[in-house]
Amino acid sequence: MTTLDKQRRKKLQALVDKDFYYRSYYDDDVEVRSSGKCGHGVYAVRQFLPGELVMEVTGQLIPKKAYEGSEYVMDLDEKWYLEPSAPGAFMNHSCSPNCELIQLTELSLGVVAICNIEAESQITFDYAWEAFDWNPECQCGARNCRGWVVAEDEVKKMKRLAKGRKKGKDKKKKDR
Ligand SMILES: [Zn+2]
Repeated sequence: MTTLDKQRRKKLQALVDKDFYYRSYYDDDVEVRSSGKCGHGVYAVRQFLPGELVMEVTGQLIPKKAYEGSEYVMDLDEKWYLEPSAPGAFMNHSCSPNCELIQLTELSLGVVAICNIEAESQITFDYAWEAFDWNPECQCGARNCRGWVVAEDEVKKMKRLAKGRKKGKDKKKKDR
């Protein structure tokens, strides 16, 4: 096997990026930007009306049996997880989201606006995570913020866990 020299690799990589854009997803209606305190986020470039499809989320499909999921993994259906590629992977949680996820095709999810979304707004959905020891504190800033990135009906359990977590931290200083 011949190895690629640096220049040729660069040239060929440009071809790959151009024709397959694995690394730079292209969609004129949404944009990945730095969101300050929450790392990156997806932003609307134009206005979206309620019920409008904002974007399609594709990615790697992983059987649920084989995998517990990463932080970004989404439920596709009963049997499959979807590990989203950009820009879906950059969508942040909000306790007062402007979008929800639906199963769009057999292989992809759709992000659908649930209210009017003005251009320049951040696209968010409710992660609705189960309460575990590791759920991060929520930074969404919504008036009804639950305090943690957790599903609405898991808040009670989360509060219990967070209490325990704080105690554990005080004792061991670091719990993971
Ligand atoms: Zn919140």
